[in-house]
Amino acid sequence: MQTLVADHPLVAHKLTALRDAGTDTPVFRRLTDELVTLLAYEATRHIRVEPVSVPTPVAPATGVRLARPLPLVVPVLRAGIGMLDGMTRLLPSADVGFVGLARDEQTLVATTYAERLPADLTGRDVFVLDPMLATGGTLETVVGMLVSRGAATVTAICLLAAPEGLARLAAAFPDDAGARVRVVTSGLDEKLNDRGYIVPGLGDAGDRLFGEI
Ligand code: URA
Repeated sequence: MQTLVADHPLVAHKLTALRDAGTDTPVFRRLTDELVTLLAYEATRHIRVEPVSVPTPVAPATGVRLARPLPLVVPVLRAGIGMLDGMTRLLPSADVGFVGLARDEQTLVATTYAERLPADLTGRDVFVLDPMLATGGTLETVVGMLVSRGAATVTAICLLAAPEGLARLAAAFPDDAGARVRVVTSGLDEKLNDRGYIVPGLGDAGDRLFGEI
């Protein structure tokens, strides 16, 4: 499994504002949206394309278009929904699937409560949106679903990651797992606390995006 921590001053600037406990929900949403678009640029660096010819007003030109089957974007409910617009801004023709997982705050174990994914993902590039890679339990489950359906590549886009979560994913998806698995994040933090929160992190991403409901 590959990990890319985006190394860009604008990413660092926006992430710092996102972490700030004084950042309110409207600004948190906007910063998330902007950060995801920046991460999407990195995450799609190896996306599959195919040659195509278009007529310019002057002469035929050869170029590329996204290869078929088109990529799939999968936001993990609920917090991943806050990342969807930022991603589809760069990939407007991608299909969108959904997975809902809730984690038990005592055991930190995630269970699936919703799933709308194509049965066959053979040859597809898949991008999973989940803001916080904490214990890695949620992403291990979601990436496992996608790999078992034949995805060619699975790239998880996360605002923040903890070393514990990255280690769990790397163990679950070694390089010979059948699909190329990558994590693209704007920051790798220090550790998890005893409640499974990333330290220093940014708190509960779902609550900060959508309120404490
Ligand atoms: N989920 C969050 O929203 N924040 C964390 O720090 C960990 C998991």
